[in-house]
Amino acid sequence: MAGEPQADCLFCKIVSGEVPATVVRETETTVAFRDINPQAPTHVLVVPKAHYPDVASLAAADPQITADVLTEAGKVAAEDKVDETGYRIVFNTGSGAGQTVWHAHAHVLGGRGLNWPPG
Ligand code: C5P
Repeated sequence: MAGEPQADCLFCKIVSGEVPATVVRETETTVAFRDINPQAPTHVLVVPKAHYPDVASLAAADPQITADVLTEAGKVAAEDKVDETGYRIVFNTGSGAGQTVWHAHAHVLGGRGLNWPPG
């Protein structure tokens, strides 16, 4: 069923605590944890606890949880103080865009200069 945990999903396992992660924030609907391979001084992933394979399917199924993910991304940025210098929220969507984990997640990147357009 849509949103249910998937046995083979890494981020579902982080949500359940089966796989360890450095969690920085948690709400009823979301978990935020530091990326294991950081691309910037602040690199945090915000995931919905519900399983959806990408942000588009999450948004179609549950606009409120999509909003929760974005609200949490903003709070992560504020707590790491990267809101003072600017930060980026990225949802890689599809393998051609670099998505490697098929559980919707926002990357929150900041703490260094960020080029535009992204590579
Ligand atoms: O957008 P994409 O799907 O490529 O992002 C997945 C992210 O999950 C990567 O930045 C990767 O470093 C991160 N990751 C993690 N902890 C793991 C496995 C992957 O933070 N155990």
